[in-house]
Amino acid sequence: MYLKPKKRLGQNFLIDPNIIKKIIVATGLSFDDTVLEIGAGRGELTQLIAPRTKKVYAVEIDSSLCNTLRQRLKDYPHVEIIPQDILKLDLENLDSELKVIGNIPYYLTTPILRHLLKFRHKISLIYISVQKEFAARILAKVGTKAYGAFSCFMQYYTKPENLFIIKRTCFWPVPKVDSCFLKIKIRKKPILPSDKEKLLFRVIRQAFSQRRKTLKNSLKKIIPAEKLPHPNLRPEDLSLRDFINLINS
Ligand code: SAM
Repeated sequence: MYLKPKKRLGQNFLIDPNIIKKIIVATGLSFDDTVLEIGAGRGELTQLIAPRTKKVYAVEIDSSLCNTLRQRLKDYPHVEIIPQDILKLDLENLDSELKVIGNIPYYLTTPILRHLLKFRHKISLIYISVQKEFAARILAKVGTKAYGAFSCFMQYYTKPENLFIIKRTCFWPVPKVDSCFLKIKIRKKPILPSDKEKLLFRVIRQAFSQRRKTLKNSLKKIIPAEKLPHPNLRPEDLSLRDFINLINS
């Protein structure tokens, strides 16, 4: 059945069989794996994930696509189709050690990653496609233009890695930009205790909210200048490790 893609739901479907295979190979799935697929769409990835894994939760908000998915995956009873908004899904109710896979709507990348990281104890790995510019922010190193509070947030909780580029022509309809396929490994142990973690992100958010100001100016309400080892630096000059050391000191 022909279904017109819904722009408001970020429906850009994967249509290139080579890239679909490349994604599946990159995830290195095995029969022990439980997968949470976000935005299963018409099931292009789901139909290749299903025969390789123990359990699949396929989340899709669009009820008409859920019908297509049910039909397409009817031979796989271990695939559970969840017709829901991923941002409202409580991952506590799912199995643990999840591998998350998603060709996700781009405008939801930040809320989806934030939502997933709330349940990081349930997840081992996240494989997602994101817009190239957004990948640059997640992977950014200190001192670069793309480096910011979100880079620190992601790199604090995870180890992100760029696996390969997905050209825009691999999708239908063709989006305006190319994507990157990322492997995001969840860090098992917290770097800081939770009270210090809260302070760390307060400081990072505050520092980057006034990017052009020196730290002594942007942080004056939280940390007195004399306690800052480098008061005249700007936030992009401090690595995540520097921010962590600052909190520890
Ligand atoms: N996985 C399919 C593929 O690769 O061809 C579809 C990918 S498409 C970029 C994103 C999918 O996410 C769409 O099917 C869309 O309906 C679904 N979606 C959008 N918002 C969602 C949400 N909040 N929760 C779950 N699924 C959502």
